[in-house]
Amino acid sequence: MSSTNVDAAELAKFSDLAHRWWDKESEFRPLHEINPLRLEWIDALASLKGKRALDVGCGGGILAEAMALRAHHVTGIDLAVKPLGVARLHAMEQGVANIDYREVPAEALAAEAPGAFDVVTCMEMLEHVPDPSSTVRACAQLAKPSGWVFFSTLNRNPKSYLFAIIGAEYVLKLLPKGTHEHSRFIKPSELARYCRDAGLLWQATKGMGYNPLTRRYSLNEDTSVNYLVACRKPA
Ligand code: SAH
Repeated sequence: MSSTNVDAAELAKFSDLAHRWWDKESEFRPLHEINPLRLEWIDALASLKGKRALDVGCGGGILAEAMALRAHHVTGIDLAVKPLGVARLHAMEQGVANIDYREVPAEALAAEAPGAFDVVTCMEMLEHVPDPSSTVRACAQLAKPSGWVFFSTLNRNPKSYLFAIIGAEYVLKLLPKGTHEHSRFIKPSELARYCRDAGLLWQATKGMGYNPLTRRYSLNEDTSVNYLVACRKPA
């Protein structure tokens, strides 16, 4: 599978940990904890029932499988082989049959099946690719007219360096050291430009906060560290 918009070292980080993807106390605990929050937000806006969804950079399938329990069908794509294997196995064990996992670049799938999906999600992935604008463009191409496209990523500023790198990786040890590179974080204004250039209409934004005392995440209006955006393709 050839794609230029991929960093092999980034994929290796996720492949190395793949066997622990569904362990809720592992490095992937944050993804498990935030999953109900993002799922409800996505479902409230895009109503998954009866829809065809695509999860770009699906990893071990935490969001993809949860969406499959509500949607008509879900396709999960990633370029890391081991997480995809874990995702397939988990769906099989859970008896979730309306899901397909494929090792294909978003750009290639966009050329193969443009406009094929009612809902496209691309969560916690853009900050790991060399050219996030290319991924955003591909996600836009993959959505049907009036379809929804969701992104989540990390803002780039001194606070996000302190919270998402120092706090999460070094102090609270929520994530392995080296999970994120601050220079790759994406300001909402930059993501807004990528979306606009891809022809997407920005609909809504949420921030995501973590309370280290209660160890709980919540959605809020503070986009200074983690944030999610919802866009729509014009009708
Ligand atoms: N979206 C999932 C997983 C996030 S972890 C979730 O939020 O639960 C980041 C994922 O992005 C990993 O699975 C990694 O393999 C994937 N990834 C990184 N670069 C990629 C690329 N160029 N194309 C597709 N997936 C990529």
